[in-house]
Amino acid sequence: MKIALISDVHGNLEALENVLRDIEKQGAEKIHFLGDAVGYGCNPNECVKLISNHCDIKLLGNHDFAAMGLESIENFNQMAKASMDWTQTKLKPKSVRLLADFDMDAVFLDYYLVHSSPTEPEKWRYILSIDQAEDHFEKFSQTFCFVGHSHSPTYFEKDPEGYITQHFKPEMEYNRGYRYIINIGSVGQPRDNDPRACYVIADTDTNSIIYRRVEYDINKTQDKMRKAKLPDFLIERLAVGA
Ligand code: ZN
Repeated sequence: MKIALISDVHGNLEALENVLRDIEKQGAEKIHFLGDAVGYGCNPNECVKLISNHCDIKLLGNHDFAAMGLESIENFNQMAKASMDWTQTKLKPKSVRLLADFDMDAVFLDYYLVHSSPTEPEKWRYILSIDQAEDHFEKFSQTFCFVGHSHSPTYFEKDPEGYITQHFKPEMEYNRGYRYIINIGSVGQPRDNDPRACYVIADTDTNSIIYRRVEYDINKTQDKMRKAKLPDFLIERLAVGA
């Protein structure tokens, strides 16, 4: 069975719509969402609704938490704070109710799914290096752990002897007996110098993973963000994916 894994939509409706179209073309039977439906972008309500309607497993990210008022935004940087203030004023009670149904983590077959990291998911840790990945491998028992949060598509592979390597490839080939932490990248705000929306198709029979990159109308999204008076930096970064 082919499944799609998407994360970090961040209120970017144009990116999400095109990704959902691409998922349909790929023939994925299920879609799992790994968190951050809102924050940064200008269509939080529309994105929460689409994700609720289309996704099977739905997880919360730190921006969703903050938007629901469950967490202070003291640790957010200035841009994230400004966009979160905006998001909180625009988020409808209906969207908050939909987000309240999202989970912190989930298990699907041999996959452990979480927004940030398997260690204390509510602490929103980043897994960016082999050193950081090491401890997290001990905190889930499945073969695969899928995460979002950093917006950087990359995966860590641990061989049966415990040696970990990090990869930045458009496809992941599964090796029997190995375990994996896979960051699936971001739909709505990629940060790996490729502005196209990013998500993952996983084949549960072969255990192969493919990163998909999807074009969308970035100019349209940017125009809407300008009209909403969101911070310039958040608008400009979409064009370069950084
Ligand atoms: Zn995010």
